[in-house]
Amino acid sequence: MDLKTIIQEFLQRPKDELGDRSTYIGASDLACERKGCLEKLIPSPKSFETLLRFKRGDLVESIVKEALDHNGIKHVCQLEAVHPQKPHLKAHLDFTFGNQTEMGVLECKSVSFIPEEPYDGWEKQLYYQMGILALNHRQKKIKGAVIALDLQTGDVSIFNGYKHSPLMFKELEASADRIWQALQNQNPDSLNTNKSPLCAYCHFRSDCPAFFVDDSKVVDLGPIQQDVNQYLDAKLMEKEGKSLSFQAKARIEQFLGEYTAGKAGETIIKVSARQKETLDFNAFKSAHPDLFEEFKKTTSYTVLSVS
Ligand code: SF4
Repeated sequence: MDLKTIIQEFLQRPKDELGDRSTYIGASDLACERKGCLEKLIPSPKSFETLLRFKRGDLVESIVKEALDHNGIKHVCQLEAVHPQKPHLKAHLDFTFGNQTEMGVLECKSVSFIPEEPYDGWEKQLYYQMGILALNHRQKKIKGAVIALDLQTGDVSIFNGYKHSPLMFKELEASADRIWQALQNQNPDSLNTNKSPLCAYCHFRSDCPAFFVDDSKVVDLGPIQQDVNQYLDAKLMEKEGKSLSFQAKARIEQFLGEYTAGKAGETIIKVSARQKETLDFNAFKSAHPDLFEEFKKTTSYTVLSVS
C-alpha cells in the first residue's frame, strides 16, 4: 500500500461525533437541498482532494480549540443539538459558549481565500444551528458568528453579530423537512437547487439543471463571476503592462543613447546585448522529418479563450 493510499484511508474514517449522516438532516445539508439529499441517497467515496479539504476544516477547529483552552475560555465542542419534535433534524455545533441568559455559537471555516461577505451557505448553517439551539433553550438569547481562516496565508476574518431569527429558522426547517421527505420517497426531483462556488465539489452536477445554461452543456459560471472578472481584468492588465514596458524600454534606451548604464533615484539600469538561438521548427521539420519526430517534445497545457 503506498503512502497516499494510507493517508486516504485514514482520512476516510467516519467522524464519530457526526454519527450516521443518512439518518438526519444536518446544517451542511441545507447549502443545496438537491445535493444534501443525493449525498445521502447515493453516497460516493470522497476524492483525496475533498478529504484533505475536510481535514483542513478539522485543523481550523483544533487551532481555535487550543486557543480557547489556552485562554481558559469555557466552551463545548461539537455539541449535538436535536430538534425537540423532529429528531431527524440535528445540528453539530463547532463551538458553543453560554451563561445564565445567553448562548453563542461559533462555526469554523477553512478557506483558500477570505470572501468579502460570508457565503449564503455559511449563514444558512448558522441560522439552522441557532434555531435548533433556541428550541432547546427557549429562555436564552442565542447569537452566532463564523470564523474563516486561510491556513496558507494566515488571513482570518470573523463574521459576527448574528442572532437567532425565528423567521429564518422557519424557512430552513421547511427546507430540511423537504430534504427529509425526498429522502423517504427516494426522489429528489422536486428539491431546490442552490448554485454556489461549492458546485465545484458537487458529485451530482453532471445532471443538475442549475449547473448548466439553458439545458445545454455550457456551465453557468455565475457563482464564480468574481473570479471570471478577476481573470479578465488580470489579462487586460498583463497586455497593457507588456505594451507599457515595451514603450518605456524604448524611451530609456533612446535616452541612454550610446551609454550603457543609468541611475534613476536608487534604481540602476544597465543595458547589455545578449543573444539567443532559436530553431525554425517548420524549416527543420521539412528538412529532417525523422529527426523532428525523434526529438520533438509535447507538453500539455490549457487555454482559456474568451469571447
Ligand atoms: S451542482 Fe450545485 S446546484 Fe446542482 S446539486 Fe450540486 S451543489 Fe446543488
